[in-house]
Amino acid sequence: MRVLLVEDEPVTARAITLMLKADCNAVVDIADTGEDAIEMARHYDYDAVLLDLMLPDIDGLEALRRLRASGQSTPVLVLTGLTRPQAKVAAFNAGADDVMTKPFDRSELVARIKAIVRRSKGHSQPALQVGPMLLNLDSREVSVDGRPVHLTGKEYAILELLVMRRGMVLTKEIFLNHLYGGLDEPEMKIIDVFICKLRKKLAAAGAPNLIGTVWGRGYIMRTPDAAPAPHSPAVPVVQAARSLEDILLPGARVAATQDDEASTLAAARVLVSA
Ligand code: CA
Repeated sequence: MRVLLVEDEPVTARAITLMLKADCNAVVDIADTGEDAIEMARHYDYDAVLLDLMLPDIDGLEALRRLRASGQSTPVLVLTGLTRPQAKVAAFNAGADDVMTKPFDRSELVARIKAIVRRSKGHSQPALQVGPMLLNLDSREVSVDGRPVHLTGKEYAILELLVMRRGMVLTKEIFLNHLYGGLDEPEMKIIDVFICKLRKKLAAAGAPNLIGTVWGRGYIMRTPDAAPAPHSPAVPVVQAARSLEDILLPGARVAATQDDEASTLAAARVLVSA
């Protein structure tokens, strides 16, 4: 997965990045200001945004509201030093999908990120079945009819992307973005090589024909179990619907947000000055 980490403290940012790489095999981009975060989230296709609220330029909630106002539906997990319920409610009202208070437990943060990413793609549980193949997002294990299939890290990452967005055509650019994040990016042909190896391993295990080629566009995970695909194949890069707050009662949301924003900012000032 590809994650945008919005955090201005280099030590914290480095620690979280290492953690996400180790535990989620994530490609992590770091934004150290709110403005940068908004720009990067508009430009790149992230699976999740991890947002610190105390930023040097604009308030994290303001950045979140602007992201949502611009139509960004990427799941956002807010990290806040404020433990009061009102602060969390304000984050949810601004469009957060989840909120965690600092200091946080590493395994809980990783589990929550995995959950919001999975949910945003329309999956309610970590074990995803496609025909005879089972892919477990938590353990990162793949099996066909109960027999394990041994994949390399990159092969798994490609398969996970296909399964998470099954029924959608994924371009080679999307694979490269999610596997390498623009750093040391190899040539696009490498994706064809990975797909070829994946197909061979899956076919040998008894699951042929799962990965389809859409000529001139990319690859698609077929859905032989005829489960309705959560997304239309016509739109390759679509995130799921926004948080409930963005859909329900828009009037109530705006009113609540303004009140909570004031109290959050006041509390933030107290914390900063303390
Ligand atoms: Ca900060």
